[in-house]
Amino acid sequence: MAKTIIKASDEKAAPKTVKKPAAESKKEPTIVQAKPTKGSAFGYRIGAIALWLVAIACEIFAIMVLLKNFSIRFTHDGNTNMVINLIIFIVLDLAFAIAAAQLWKKANHISPPSKKNKFTFYLISELGVIMACICFIPLIIILLKNDKLNKKSKIIVTAIAIVALLITGLASADFNPISAEEKDQAEAVFAEDTIYWTPFGHKCHLHQECSSLSNSSTLYEGSMKEAIESGRSSICWYCRNWYETEHPDKQINWDELHLEELTEEATKTDENPAGTEGTGSETGD
Ligand SMILES: [Zn+2]
Repeated sequence: MAKTIIKASDEKAAPKTVKKPAAESKKEPTIVQAKPTKGSAFGYRIGAIALWLVAIACEIFAIMVLLKNFSIRFTHDGNTNMVINLIIFIVLDLAFAIAAAQLWKKANHISPPSKKNKFTFYLISELGVIMACICFIPLIIILLKNDKLNKKSKIIVTAIAIVALLITGLASADFNPISAEEKDQAEAVFAEDTIYWTPFGHKCHLHQECSSLSNSSTLYEGSMKEAIESGRSSICWYCRNWYETEHPDKQINWDELHLEELTEEATKTDENPAGTEGTGSETGD
């Protein structure tokens, strides 16, 4: 009995191959040149303040709906109509407040506040969170006190307003604010270096082969200034070690730089075995 022989080159007859592990089939990342920052910090701050004012106006409209001074008529049922109006103004309030905070954060990355005065540093860095409170807390208090909505509607609308406050607060917070001193220092120290960052990451990487970049298919490259201004404020911890080995003569005071705090998550990324193979292929630029 002759055995059936399948040629490896005959794709149709060949049995389905087992999918290669991610690390083996991993492609080189696409490198995208960063675009220079558009607009000034002042322009972004003006834009942010304008949008916050619109958000507060939406909150005032919602309060007016509650106090029965104002409403858009969607239905004849008074209670349902109030609920619809309130939800519309809460959603608009959220959208404008989040948009404002993104402009404010952009301004803070272009022109960060000084850390010499800790109070003003955190006030300016986290103004988005303060504004989120201003955009929702007065409305939530009035919602809780009001007796014009029926009980069920009151619970639903209050819950929506609280969720909106939490979403806006989280989206507005800068979890890693950089100071003017740290930005100046980083730009001076790495003036000659190319910096890499990922579309969704928050770190500046000092070399393309960093193990925590191994899972990213797209990499941005540019100057330290461009990296910080696009929101990547802290320097990757692994890249620091690599840089010290590569540049033994360079005296760097790392304490003056905005270095990534080593988290459990970062440790996991480095130990990820899928990532280590991907970094094995040297590209040499
Ligand atoms: Zn890195």
